[in-house]
Parts: sequence; C-alpha cells; structure tokens
Amino acid sequence: MSYRGGIDLGGTKIQAVVVDDAHTVLGQSRQPTPNSDGPNGVLTAMADAMRSAAAGAGVQPGQLAGVGVGSPGTVDSAAGTVANARNVAPDWEAPVPAAALLSEMLETPVRVGHDVSVGTEAEFRLGAGREFDSILGVFWGTGVGSGIIMDGRLWSGRGAAGEIGHMVVRRGGATCTCGRSGCLEAYAGRSAMEIRARALANRGAHTDLFRIMEKKHRTRLTSGVWADALERGDRLATRLIDRATASLAAGIASAINLLDLQAVIVGGGLGTRLGEPYVRRIAEGMIPHLFVDQRPPAVRVAALGDLGGAIGAALLVSPAGSDPATRSNDSISRTSPPPET
Ligand SMILES: [Zn+2]
Repeated sequence: MSYRGGIDLGGTKIQAVVVDDAHTVLGQSRQPTPNSDGPNGVLTAMADAMRSAAAGAGVQPGQLAGVGVGSPGTVDSAAGTVANARNVAPDWEAPVPAAALLSEMLETPVRVGHDVSVGTEAEFRLGAGREFDSILGVFWGTGVGSGIIMDGRLWSGRGAAGEIGHMVVRRGGATCTCGRSGCLEAYAGRSAMEIRARALANRGAHTDLFRIMEKKHRTRLTSGVWADALERGDRLATRLIDRATASLAAGIASAINLLDLQAVIVGGGLGTRLGEPYVRRIAEGMIPHLFVDQRPPAVRVAALGDLGGAIGAALLVSPAGSDPATRSNDSISRTSPPPET
C-alpha cells in the first residue's frame, strides 16, 4: 500500500489530502490562503497543510510516494513552475519553482498541474464522468473554467484550451474581470456577480446578501452566502443566479455544438454548493441553444465535491505499479468534507 498526497491551491483556501491506492481519503487539512505573504508564504502554508493531512493519516510527508498540486495560473508541469497566480498572491507573476521548493520542504517528489485540468481528470477517472470517453468539466466558482477530455485524453491546445469563461455570450456585454466584454464569466463568475450585486445594492436594490455575508463573518460573497440568500428567496440573488445559469447554459451549449462531447460535469464552489437543482436548470437552458437538440449531452454535478481538486491533484502521482495514463476502475470513497462556506 502506498500513500499519495494532493494539494488543491485556491485563491481563498488550501485543501490537502492523503489518499491510498484506492483513492480513499485517509487524512485531510484545510487552511486559508495567505494572500499577502507572497509566493513563499503560500508555499509554506501548502507545506503546513500537507503535514497536517499526513499527520491525520498517521504518516510523515517523507513517507508519501509523492505529492501532486493543482494550481491556478500558468502551470508548466515539466518545469514544475507556476506563474501568473495573482488571485493567490498579488505579486505572484514570474514563474516560481513550486515543485522543487515544496519537494524540499516535504522531502518527497512533488508534481504540479493546472487546477481545472486536474479537477476534470479526477471527475473523468473517479467521479461523475467515469462512464464516458469525452467530457467537458465546467468549474463554476470565483471564475468559470473548463477542462476538455476527448477520446480519453485531456485536450490542452497550445496550453490555454478550456477557457470557457471567456467565451462571448453577449457581444458588447458586461465587462469581464479579464478586461474584455460579454464573456460568460462576466455573468456567471462569483467575483463578477459580487461586483454587480454591490453596484445594484448601492443604487438602492434591496438584498440580504451583504447582511448574510457579515453574519457568516465573511468578507466576500462566498458560495455559502449565495446559497443562503437563494434559500430565503432573496430577489436580487435569485435574479443574478438566474442570469448566471442562463449564461452558463448558452456558453456550454456553444461548446457542445463545437465539440459534441458526451457529457458535461459541473463542479466548482458554486456548482457543487448549489448542486442538482441548479445544474438541471443549466441543462434545460442549454436545449434551445443546442443544434442537435434531440440528443443533448448528459449534464451532471461533479461527484467528488469539495475534495475533488485535492484528490485529483493526488492523481498526478502514480500509485506504485500502475500506469497513470489509464483510467482507474476503482471506485472512490471519501470522508465527508467540512461544508464549503
Ligand atoms: Zn473575460
């Protein structure tokens, strides 16, 4: 039996897990991302998270077969570097040798991969995409990203494929966080929705969103804040989420018209938190936009939930004696994660 580590690096939190050969989570740890201490502060926090996940599993990090990291930004897996991870640390622009530095701190081999690719591979091999050969993994959270698997292989284009969040759903539309206009992310990304909600509230629209945020001791409109507001029937929250799901439906349907993939797996902070009813709404909203509407793709909620990114990152390390390029037929079991906030 060999143990592997996985770290999911996000803009707000770092999630670390230790899994066995059957991908069962034996230890896990979560920490807030220290956004103001630069790349080194973030790497130190990642190593700490990995150490406590290992402690939970009763092992030392050095005893792990290796640690995989799913990271945002520009990831060069071969070089082991991460660049342009500004949502993690504002000054994280130049390539940082994250794999080498973490490997030194944890005394075990470390591999880095792009968070969205890692999450899509995890759903494809172990989660909601297991029965398909070609899937689109859509991660609906702070931004909107996607991973494309065609005939069993991840398609990364020239390195930047899958930027579904920047597909144009309305020409000349809302300003996106990328500076362009009309992007899907400008309507469905949590950051963009928060900016929009604030602007409307400042103009006098009634909403409980910011009161719920304060009550939960948050500084941002997290997925949990949106979910609570929707449950209470908050009109502004409902309107913005309706706009988001309609935009996701249009963007995803366009991607399907182009690639004709078998299934769409929706994950990410908002996707997993809002879950089935909202994912069903996206699926229904896709129909009018699908060219071959009598044969829509399967649309499912990501099955690995909040730990999917970290479990997927652990897949970057091949278990002893297995080929990482082939899909595992193992089923996955996981402990319940703490609720996402
Ligand atoms: Zn954009």
